[in-house]
Amino acid sequence: MSWKSSVIEGARRVGALRVVGASWGLRRLTVLCYHRIGDADAPGFDVYSGTMSATPDAFPAQLDLVADRFNVVAMDRLVAWLKGTTDLPKRPAVITFDDGYADNSTFALPALRERGLPATVFLTTSLIGSGDASWWDRLAYGFHHAAVTDVEIPTLGSVQWSSDDERDRLVEQMIQAIKTLPESDKLAAIDETLEALGVDPAPGTFDGLFLTWDQVREMEAAGFTAAAHTMTHPVLTRLDQDDATAEIVGSVDRVAEEVGRPVDAFAYPNGMPGDYDEVAFRALAGAGIGAAFTLSAGPTRATEAAADPLRIRRVYVAGRHSLTDFETRLEGIPRVADAVRRRRVRLGVPGRA
Ligand SMILES: [Zn+2]
Repeated sequence: MSWKSSVIEGARRVGALRVVGASWGLRRLTVLCYHRIGDADAPGFDVYSGTMSATPDAFPAQLDLVADRFNVVAMDRLVAWLKGTTDLPKRPAVITFDDGYADNSTFALPALRERGLPATVFLTTSLIGSGDASWWDRLAYGFHHAAVTDVEIPTLGSVQWSSDDERDRLVEQMIQAIKTLPESDKLAAIDETLEALGVDPAPGTFDGLFLTWDQVREMEAAGFTAAAHTMTHPVLTRLDQDDATAEIVGSVDRVAEEVGRPVDAFAYPNGMPGDYDEVAFRALAGAGIGAAFTLSAGPTRATEAAADPLRIRRVYVAGRHSLTDFETRLEGIPRVADAVRRRRVRLGVPGRA
């Protein structure tokens, strides 16, 4: 093959996605955000499906793609780089999990370990080892086991459903509505909803949904880094300053106590602009946190992360993505699309909302 034809062939193989990716430069930072690894379509699945990031079959293929394209580094390396005490490899990536679901140990850990890839888990400390479920999982459980399919519930009013899809859409709507409530009203709304649905989960129902502290320590020993994600997963800006600070510091201290070393990373619950503020930044800095992560669409330029280490973007991985969708996200297409959309809005160009 002549050098010309091999160049053309190579260019074909690289493909449009990688060209767009390359235009970001070699020093972009890609932080992946997963929640759960599992199968929401499996028989008996009866909690919230929206936090399922990948199936146990899809996850290893995603990791292979990540390992092929990026140099995956552990959280302590990233934090040290943000502090200016070490360098980063080209095309650095960090793998993170939010909330602390037990399937991170069952399904994610073996696949990561097999490939020698480090990862970080951001723990909602009140759920770890509690045998309890998050409010969104309790809500979904209520709908899965409802004694009625036509009911009056808080925030949505009168609802009815006649298929699993309709039910799941209602759960999603209700979760979005509950997220807008003051923190103090959220749990009461969930309790009222379960009562209206005629569901009272027996003790032990949610055992094994979230990690135990022993599992967290086992994961640490096997290459995971434990980090903080508040105590009870509130939207921090809906709390007063003292409560927001307590949620942050309490979770950082608890993780440090359980794993026996200082904690240097944090992820904001919900993670959108408006869900964190100066109060949070001050509490994080005071607690010794060197890197904090949002859910604004990533990847990010490494220089942007270094300039603003308490507001690092992530690439959100959602369930049922094909490997091509996943690749599109890895290469930052949603962030580019988001920037284009905002520019169109700014310029008054009509487009989709
Ligand atoms: Zn979370």
